[in-house]
Amino acid sequence: MLIALHTFTTASTAGRNMVAKVIDGHAVARQVRAECRELTKSLVERGVTPGLAVIIVGENAASRVYVANKVKACTEVGLKSTVYAFDADTPGATVEAAILRLNDDPEVHGILVQLPLPAHFDVRRVLGAISSDKDVDGFHLYNVGGLVVGDTVFPPCTPYGVQKMLEYENILVEGQNVVVVGASNIVGKPMALMLMQKDATVCICHAKTRDLAQFTILADILVVAAGKPNLILPQMVRTGAVVIDVGINRLPDGRLVGDVDFEGVRRKASYITPVPGGVGPMTVTMLVHNTVKAAQRHAALA
Ligand code: NAD
Repeated sequence: MLIALHTFTTASTAGRNMVAKVIDGHAVARQVRAECRELTKSLVERGVTPGLAVIIVGENAASRVYVANKVKACTEVGLKSTVYAFDADTPGATVEAAILRLNDDPEVHGILVQLPLPAHFDVRRVLGAISSDKDVDGFHLYNVGGLVVGDTVFPPCTPYGVQKMLEYENILVEGQNVVVVGASNIVGKPMALMLMQKDATVCICHAKTRDLAQFTILADILVVAAGKPNLILPQMVRTGAVVIDVGINRLPDGRLVGDVDFEGVRRKASYITPVPGGVGPMTVTMLVHNTVKAAQRHAALA
């Protein structure tokens, strides 16, 4: 007799006459970090401590906070992280030379360049200097190409975090209508590719999309990453849809909000992610995950 091991939730079977379940990004992150901690422990026993090198250029305050969070997450899980900070007027060639040295350092398994870089940098060139084996942010063209054909080594951390959240909640992706609002290289486009790889029917919307609501209303799963508060209102969301809010916006009164009208949409959706406490904790966690994976690959090759 065949027994179903997993029960999947679909947008069409959940959420009617109910308030959405709020997906707790911290809880999902805790689970992934616990798995990373175990893997790290066994790597350390074999003499390999996963190592992350973080490069930051300039004084961008938000970037400094993000880097501090990444270092903290690494420490919690048992990774070694080292920050290389450069002045804003550092020539691109100097940073590239540092990356090349880190590529050759056997104690460094992951290299991350905190974006944005100052305007005089050729970002594509700097990211291209990172060895594809250490590209834990997944922005090197090799890994981007891998994403297109469905076998990237390091999926970009934010969409990878969203995928993990959907898996954690057993939300079915196959055959579902997915609408991704936002088409950036770091969130929207890789998100669309990853969900297409899982056999969803994917539509990507962006700032030039005419009548956004005509697309969002069709979504079983709606992923929003535009950086516009209150972009998604309840009337734009199908009853029972799964709504993932990637946006992070600081309002003039200091509050942090996403792109979705959370209070309104949660009365219509089946699942929703909050901001803060949704996708945010997953992004840092998947960076740790990718670094541990890079160290595992290194250990297997060594
Ligand atoms: P981006 O500015 O590079 O891209 C924004 C995308 O949204 C573009 O494709 C643009 O065309 C689209 N867009 C803008 N206005 C729109 C509108 N009115 N309708 C439809 N589409 C519109 O931004 P990004 O780096 O992709 O980040 C997007 C948001 O996600 C930001 O708020 C950012 O802070 C947040 N973010 C969060 C995390 C996280 O960990 N939670 C990680 C990365 C980015």
